[in-house]
Amino acid sequence: MIVSANVQEKLSRLGIHNELDLILHLPIRYEDETHLFPISDAPSGQVVQIEGVIIHNEVVIRPRRQLVCQIEDSSGILVMRFLNFYGSQIKTYAVGKRVRLLGEIRTGFFGAEMVHPKCRIVRESESLAESMTPVYPTTAGLTQKILGKLIGQVLQDAQKTQALTETLPEKIVQKYRLAGLKESLMCLHNPPPDVSVEALQARTHPVWRRVKFDELLAQQLSMRLHYRQRRSHAAPVLAQKGKLAKLLLKQLAFELTTAQIKVSAEISRDLAAAHPMQRLLQGDVGSGKTIVAALAALQSIENGFQAALMAPTEILAEQHFQKLSAWFDPLGIRVVWLSGSQKKKQKQAALDAIALGTAQLVVGTHALFQDQVVFHQLGLAIVDEQHRFGVHQRLALRMKGALSNTVPHQLMMSATPIPRTLSMSYFADLDVSIIDELPPGRAPIVTKLIAGNRRDEIIARIQHACQQGKQVYWVCPLIEESETLQLQTAMETYESLSKEFPDLSVGLVHGRLSTQEKTGVMASFKQGEIQLLVATTVIEVGVDVPNASLMVIENAERMGLSQLHQLRGRVGRGSEASICILLFQQPLSEIARKRLKIIFEHTDGFEIARQDLQLRGPGEFLGARQSGVPMLRFADLEQDGELLLAAQATADEMLNNYAELAQRHIARWLGDKTEYLRV
Ligand code: ADP
Ligand code: MG
Repeated sequence: MIVSANVQEKLSRLGIHNELDLILHLPIRYEDETHLFPISDAPSGQVVQIEGVIIHNEVVIRPRRQLVCQIEDSSGILVMRFLNFYGSQIKTYAVGKRVRLLGEIRTGFFGAEMVHPKCRIVRESESLAESMTPVYPTTAGLTQKILGKLIGQVLQDAQKTQALTETLPEKIVQKYRLAGLKESLMCLHNPPPDVSVEALQARTHPVWRRVKFDELLAQQLSMRLHYRQRRSHAAPVLAQKGKLAKLLLKQLAFELTTAQIKVSAEISRDLAAAHPMQRLLQGDVGSGKTIVAALAALQSIENGFQAALMAPTEILAEQHFQKLSAWFDPLGIRVVWLSGSQKKKQKQAALDAIALGTAQLVVGTHALFQDQVVFHQLGLAIVDEQHRFGVHQRLALRMKGALSNTVPHQLMMSATPIPRTLSMSYFADLDVSIIDELPPGRAPIVTKLIAGNRRDEIIARIQHACQQGKQVYWVCPLIEESETLQLQTAMETYESLSKEFPDLSVGLVHGRLSTQEKTGVMASFKQGEIQLLVATTVIEVGVDVPNASLMVIENAERMGLSQLHQLRGRVGRGSEASICILLFQQPLSEIARKRLKIIFEHTDGFEIARQDLQLRGPGEFLGARQSGVPMLRFADLEQDGELLLAAQATADEMLNNYAELAQRHIARWLGDKTEYLRV
């Protein structure tokens, strides 16, 4: 395909880099130019084509300059109106010219009219289009005509060449009653007049089914291949001894839930295998993932290997460090802390212990995968709140621990529940364990939505709660545009609340405090010395203070659903009935109103995530993960669940029995978009 540099640049803006990209650049809708409606009989509210002769042409000045023409056919008269027009159009649409208009008819002041229709001059009894006219997504400066022509050319060539040969085994085509890919694409680009445009546009037509299946299959194939490749490495075999685990469980104040036992068993089995575990542990906020991680770490340590736990924020990492030290110290296991803000001397000591292997468990932030860190023998890398890290960061930690001939096991944890279809598609390169119950005895959280101008009521409520020995979080508004402004707001809130509650002890924690200061504040809050903790969203992840049972979130309308769910999850961790008050400012945008409704009505993280996915679509929902994984353009996870299941089953069968076809299928759909899969 030879195109000018200018066109090429436009095409690449549309993500089109080769001929196949062009073929897969599918219409967003169709225009029906295959027949004509009489003016008086044309249905309103849909795009129709009419033809007639111009009987009047006038530039009207009021209420604003516009070109108005009248078109007549044997059945009636229609007004054509252009609010923006070139001088040349006045001449082109001269009285007596025959025109074809495509547009929606509305009833205006002067009767039936079309505003800004597609309009062209035609000869008498000029032939009609034989197929629907596709309308492609395009970019400024690239007309439908050029784009359509390019696609047409490539399609025609593809007829002759091997570009669209079948990549599916006949058996699969039969089993799922799939249309041919070539036929499907031809139909999508040039639908014959008898095809239902509605079904094409709604993407429910059988030809769409084939395209979506192929797309889903390509994603499954590439991710499963990636999975298999990583699995082909060797990993330290961490035998299931269970002695340390027993000791730890004995000192706990609680019994594991059935779900915790189940996922721990899944993890333990993986660790004992000779290839690296690549498991995602999902569990709602407060479901108790930390103890599961601790048990996994023990299995590594018990076999003479180190374990590392990485968390996305200092507060969370520090809290993990404290909790795990408290659990592991009595077992005689050395836990070491590593963070970016550590003093040089302490950091060096930590690095030495890590390199020597005397540090058996290392807990820290991003600092864990920096260059100076060299593990003696890492058996297991645990990543908490995995969605906060990009693919490359997680990979870096795993590679850090790679010895000459083995790769460590990896456990990723996520408190943002991932809807099933999403996890089946975008996380198909991982094994998934789900903690699907909360520890017993948790009193449910009551959520209240209160307009910001009713702040007084809340002040009284806080006073009352603290008098009863309860503790309270006050979460300051998120100000995305400026961290400085957010900090300032937090300080001001702290000052005003300190004045409003002269007899309470009020604390403040925010992202700009040093690690030591943060730790100090959190420790005082945990010990009950601080009654009311003013905080920025730094407390969003992981923070665990069971005695806190009231939370106020200011400007909740600015926050995303998973953030609200995470924040709310900071309360309701004890047996005390908890309340979360969401303060909001009016007026609410449509999307903010929807979010608040969802968070008000639901406490189940999986349900909230499902609705969040519907609201935002997978791209935004996935965040960092998006960068590495082939995104879906055609299939819709909500609607095409059945196809997703079919693609999942087919992927494994093809990798096992039709490896060559599988490779061709991946190459066709993903081409060079699979760098991530090679790492
Ligand atoms: P998350 O899954 O959000 O990381 P955590 O691991 O922080 O949850 O656990 C939340 C709280 O529940 C902690 O205080 C933890 O000690 C407690 N917990 C964990 N498992 C149980 C259990 N089986 N029974 C009672 N409490 C538990
Ligand atoms: Mg956690």
